[in-house]
Amino acid sequence: MTETNLTQEELLQNIARYAEAHEADIIRDTGRLVCIPSVEGPAEPDAPFGREARRALDCALQIAEELGLQAVNCENRIGYAAVGEDHGQGYLATITHTDVVPAGDGWEADPFTLRVQDGFLLGRGVMDDKGPSVLCLYALKYLKDTGAELRYPVRALLGCNEETGMLDLEHYLANYPTPLFCFSPDADFPLINGEKGIYHALLTSTHTPVNVLHIEGGVAANAVPAKASALVRAEKLESSNTVTAEEAEPGLWKLSAAGISGHASMPKGTVNAIGLIVDYLLEQNIPDETELPYFRFLAKLHAATDGSGLGIDSSDGRFTPLTAVGGKITTEDGRICQTIDCRYGTSTSGEAITARLREAAGAAAEIRVSGDSVPFYMDPENPAIQACIQSYRDVTGEKEAQPFTIGGGTYARHFPNATAFGPEHPERSYPDFCGPIHGVNEAACIADFTEALKIYILTLLRLEKLDY
Ligand SMILES: [Zn+2]
Repeated sequence: MTETNLTQEELLQNIARYAEAHEADIIRDTGRLVCIPSVEGPAEPDAPFGREARRALDCALQIAEELGLQAVNCENRIGYAAVGEDHGQGYLATITHTDVVPAGDGWEADPFTLRVQDGFLLGRGVMDDKGPSVLCLYALKYLKDTGAELRYPVRALLGCNEETGMLDLEHYLANYPTPLFCFSPDADFPLINGEKGIYHALLTSTHTPVNVLHIEGGVAANAVPAKASALVRAEKLESSNTVTAEEAEPGLWKLSAAGISGHASMPKGTVNAIGLIVDYLLEQNIPDETELPYFRFLAKLHAATDGSGLGIDSSDGRFTPLTAVGGKITTEDGRICQTIDCRYGTSTSGEAITARLREAAGAAAEIRVSGDSVPFYMDPENPAIQACIQSYRDVTGEKEAQPFTIGGGTYARHFPNATAFGPEHPERSYPDFCGPIHGVNEAACIADFTEALKIYILTLLRLEKLDY
C-alpha cells in the first residue's frame, strides 16, 4: 500500500504499527552494535579510526543490508545506507555515529553487553548514538517497504569518528555531494536550530616568574575546573574561605582551591577554581609588579562567565548570551598558559574577541587562537525545520514544542542545511538506574525510541514533499 491517498490519521497509524512491530528488532540490532567497544584506537590502513570503530561501521552497514537497503562504505571513514533512486536530483540525509566514548568505571554490569531493564536499554552507546543509528536504518526501511514515493533518495549517514574529531564527516563532505537537508539524531528533542560559535585561545604569560612560581588547574579547555593550585613565595599567608594555604617550606606556600565543575557552554552555577586562586593572589598582593599585569588580566577573564570582565560580552537575541570560561591553566618553563573557551552568537566574531583580548592583555600575554567555529543558525521558519518540528508535535501531541539553540556543537553545524533533532528528552524523568550519555549506566527508554522512530519517519515523508 502506498502512502499517497492516506489521511494524516491513517498515515500516523501505519507508522505507529510499523514502529511497534519492529521494537524487538531494533533492540536486537542496537545490541549488536553495543557489544563492539568502538572507542577510537590506533589507525590501521583499513581502519583509520581504529579496529573497533571499523567493526562498528561494518556492523551498521551489515544491518542496513539485512534490511534491504543499499549499503556503502566510504573508505572505512564513514558509511551510509540508502533508499530511493538517485538521478542527480540531490538527496536527503540523516546522520548518526557508531563510535563511542570510553566506558569509564562504576557500571553496574558490562557496558558492552546490552541490558534491558524495566523498559530501558542500558549499555555504552545505547543513546549516543548507536540506538539512534538503528532508528534511522529502520526509518529508511519503512520508506522502502511501503514503496513511498521518493522525489529525493534518502541516505542514513553512519559516522564512526564523531566523539574524537569528526574526521568521518570531514572526509564525507570533501568527497561526496552535500545533502539538500540533513537531520542528526544525536542531541535533544524538540529540535536544535542554532549552535553558538565556539572559540578557543591560549593566553600565555610573557613575564618571568618571581613570586608565583607555578599555577595549574583544570582538565580541559571546555570544562569549568573543580581544582586548582599554585606554588608561591610569601612570608606569611593564611587560608581564606575559598583558598587553602599551606607552608611547603620556609617562605614557600602551596595554595589550593576547590570549585564546582561543569561544561564550559553552560557555566551557570559553576565556580572556577582557577579564578579563586587568581583572586587570592591579588588580594594577598603576592605577584610582584612585573607579574601583576598578567594576573590582573586573568582576573578579568575569571571575573564573570559572560565575558563582561574582558569586555567581550555580547548578546544577539537568537542565542543565549556569550559565555567565556578559563578552563585550564598550566605552567611550563616559567610560562603560564591559560585557555579561554567562548561560545558566541551572531553579534560578535572570533576576530572581535581576539582584538579585545589583545587590548585587555597589553604586553602581559600572547594571545594565540587555537580554534574558531562560527555560529550555526537555521531560521525556525525554514520549511524543512518546520517539517521536523511539526512532525514532532504531531507524534508527541506537544503542540507548543519549539526549536531552541545551544552552546555546544553537533554534526549539524558542518552542513549548510541541517538540524540536530532528538532523540533525548532532558525534560522527562527516568528511574535512578538510568545514566546519562558519556556517563555510567548510559540508558535509553524503549518507548521514547519507538516514538522517535515515528517522528523520524513522518519527518522524512514530509521532507520528501518540499522543494530545495
Ligand atoms: Zn553523539
